Amino acid sequence: MKDTPRHQGLRNKLVQEIINKGISHPAVIEAIAKIPRHVFFESALESHAYQDKAFPIAAGQTISQPYTVAFQSELLDVKSGMKVLEIGTGSGYQTSVLIELGAQVYTIERQKVLFAKAKNKLRSLDYFPKYIGYGDGYKGLPTYAPFDRIIVTAAAPEIPEELIKQLKIGGKMVIPVGQETQKMFLIEKNDEGIRQTEHGMFRFVPMLKDKE
Ligand code: SAH
Repeated sequence: MKDTPRHQGLRNKLVQEIINKGISHPAVIEAIAKIPRHVFFESALESHAYQDKAFPIAAGQTISQPYTVAFQSELLDVKSGMKVLEIGTGSGYQTSVLIELGAQVYTIERQKVLFAKAKNKLRSLDYFPKYIGYGDGYKGLPTYAPFDRIIVTAAAPEIPEELIKQLKIGGKMVIPVGQETQKMFLIEKNDEGIRQTEHGMFRFVPMLKDKE
């Protein structure tokens, strides 16, 4: 799928929309303006790529809404060179945003088809995560831990203890927690423990146990 001036025009409109909804982080805005979101879509749905909505990808999963991707990225407060663990690669779109922010990204997906697709898609766009794997995000990636940042892009029933363990002291995790709808939590880890704050309600597909 090619990227054309028409796509760029649609992207500029989308960027205006997320700014109007409250996104202000310059590097996040730049990433949304640059990345061809339509390339991450199934071709039948491609024309919808620049609406601020979640859409179906394969295996009954969704590509997150652009506003949600921007919101989580902004809250995550990524600095260039940071080690970031992403749980739920999905389409790979959020992964590409993190790479544009200068992160060294480690990403895990539990659906094999999505893992394979996202890997190829990212490579075709010249986005290279440090690690992209097929696995269960509840386990994190102990071999590569600790991480500066952890982002979970599926709805967790509770905050997974294992992920807290894999966060550096001074590190941050952004994770939606809940059943039907979720509260967005920011977890900050310091040498005394964790501090958690809530940042509005969202709706994600569930974070499931084990691999598919
Ligand atoms: N960041 C993605 C969002 C995809 S939706 C994007 O921008 O496209 C959330 C994804 O999390 C789904 O692909 C789902 O399969 C995956 N997921 C759910 N539970 C998981 C787990 N335990 N480990 C890894 N991935 C998981």
